[in-house]
Amino acid sequence: MSTAGPPQGAQHRSAQRGGLAGRRIDCDLLVVGSGASGLSAAVTAAWHGLKVVVVEKAPVFGGATAWSGGWMWAPGNPLAKRAGIHEDPQQPRTYLRNELGPHYDAARVDAFLDNAPAMVAFFEQHTALQFVDGNGIPDIHGQVPGAATGGHQLIAAPCDARTLGALNKQLRPTMRETSFLGMPIMAGADLAAFLSMTRSAKSFLHVTGRFLRHLRDLALHGRAMHLVNGVALVGRLAKSAQDLQVQLIASAPARRLLLEQGRVCGAVVAMDGGETEIRASRGVVLAAGGFPHDTARRQALFPRTPTGHEHLALPPESCSGDGIRLGEAAGGVLATGLASPVAWAPVSRVPHADGTVGHFPHIIDRGKPGVIGVLSTGRRFVNEADGYHDYTAAMVAQAPAGEEVCSWLVCDHRFQRLYGLGHARPFPLPVGPAVRSGYLQRGATIEALARACGIAPAALAATVQEFNDHARRGEDPAFGRGSTPYNRKMGDALHRGPNPCVAPIEQGPFYAVKVLPGSFGTFAGLRTDASARVLGADGAAIAGLYAVGTDMASVLGGCYPSGGINLGPAMTFGYIAGRHAAGV
Ligand SMILES: Cc1cc2nc3c(=O)[nH]c(=O)nc-3n(C[C@H](O)[C@H](O)[C@H](O)COP(=O)(O)OP(=O)(O)OC[C@H]3O[C@@H](n4cnc5c(N)ncnc54)[C@H](O)[C@@H]3O)c2cc1C
Repeated sequence: MSTAGPPQGAQHRSAQRGGLAGRRIDCDLLVVGSGASGLSAAVTAAWHGLKVVVVEKAPVFGGATAWSGGWMWAPGNPLAKRAGIHEDPQQPRTYLRNELGPHYDAARVDAFLDNAPAMVAFFEQHTALQFVDGNGIPDIHGQVPGAATGGHQLIAAPCDARTLGALNKQLRPTMRETSFLGMPIMAGADLAAFLSMTRSAKSFLHVTGRFLRHLRDLALHGRAMHLVNGVALVGRLAKSAQDLQVQLIASAPARRLLLEQGRVCGAVVAMDGGETEIRASRGVVLAAGGFPHDTARRQALFPRTPTGHEHLALPPESCSGDGIRLGEAAGGVLATGLASPVAWAPVSRVPHADGTVGHFPHIIDRGKPGVIGVLSTGRRFVNEADGYHDYTAAMVAQAPAGEEVCSWLVCDHRFQRLYGLGHARPFPLPVGPAVRSGYLQRGATIEALARACGIAPAALAATVQEFNDHARRGEDPAFGRGSTPYNRKMGDALHRGPNPCVAPIEQGPFYAVKVLPGSFGTFAGLRTDASARVLGADGAAIAGLYAVGTDMASVLGGCYPSGGINLGPAMTFGYIAGRHAAGV
């Protein structure tokens, strides 16, 4: 096996199979799951000369990664350096020490921060994965020492699906609720143009061009061909895997790990109506996407989730805890003492016209000027422009005991038409359908809106009046909206007023959307060391077993210091595991 570059002359096996049930497959490394972490491990190991097989439970590749915003937190990355941002390597450590407190694990944090720049350089130089910087995105908690105002984020460059060939149809399509007629909108400048298209001729032209090209792609190909965000990351990773002759097998859930003399040496995988033994001389990487859809484990670990069902998990249903169970069966241990077991997301239920109900993540709307979040008491409870994890954690902690945990985002007509509210899109799309479907509540007055929502009317009216009194001066003394660089980034740079996150709520009719606790994924996961090896109860590494992505306990200890803190570590520990398995 070579350790200096891609394998030569290997047979091309990607995404092809015919009747593998009952047969035995031999490889060097088996990867369970085809999201960012699994594909990162697979590509890295294959480039270093290993023969790699990736098995995916779902019929499509990409997992939650394909539905994600695609942002990766990677301090010190080469794109930031090329832009002239030279950060002291101690700065992110200072930030994380302050953020994580007792959950700071120096060995794993060092492994992440030391390898993240190398991971980005590796993919840029040797694979189809190219990046675009997000240098203008600040860390979430700007008041915490060490927080950066930029230079920590990056995202996969858009991907022309024509370059993927047959692989394109095997990728998980973008999430319905976060795209428009199947057109994914790229987080960053692209999205900003969509939100300002009624106020800027340049934005209008950009959006019109994007939409016309999308309609052409729908007519010619039946799906989006300009891939952005998470699906671009998956597309580029899967293409890289294909280029390196990694065998990608869909509809193939791993059922049991194979152990010999205490060493994991493969797995039994269901496929083609039977079971296939996949032997892997260098071991197995668990990358099955954590347990967002394991109801029993949610009930056991999530706060205020008495039956396990009081939770709207955003990842695909196939992310149901298989990797954790496989790891435990081999002697691995689930680390549960994290700051949070779950990466919270504020989520609303979207009743679609076809009778299905989707889940919408409130990532963008909360920070815009002219919306507040309230509990059933009618009182605000958090700085709405802070992170999604912060919003939801505060909601879970403060919703009245004995009641369903929920909050309402409340705005006026001007706000809804300008920015949209959740899945109810802004002008020129009509707001009526969202009201008729029950997605939005509407009231001519704040009190009427409160009654429609089941919120205490007098309390909500008092909250809005108090908020407005200060908002007219661009202030929010109660929660300090607009006080951090992250807040202001989430606001509206074109807003005419002293604070891009604050405006009064005063022009009826008024609207509200109900927001429930949901998740981007899980933080509790298998205990691992700095090389992503799964640790047993005695603290020793289990030979041949790695866990990455959300199967591995969050390297940030269940804290949420910045956007991209799932995918940055997922890519980096995938890279670390791939190299370790290859012996480099
Ligand atoms: C809407 C949304 C937006 C998000 N935005 C961001 C963002 O911008 N930045 C960020 O950092 N994070 C974001 N996240 C979170 C992030 O997407 C996830 O944490 C990350 O994708 C997890 O990657 P993974 O490789 O661990 O798992 P996944 O990408 O979920 O992949 C796991 C795969 O394993 C498969 N699998 C499960 N069981 C088996 C089995 N037995 N055998 C074989 N395969 C199996 C699953 O089907 C799945 O395809 C977002 C999440 C969502 C839902």
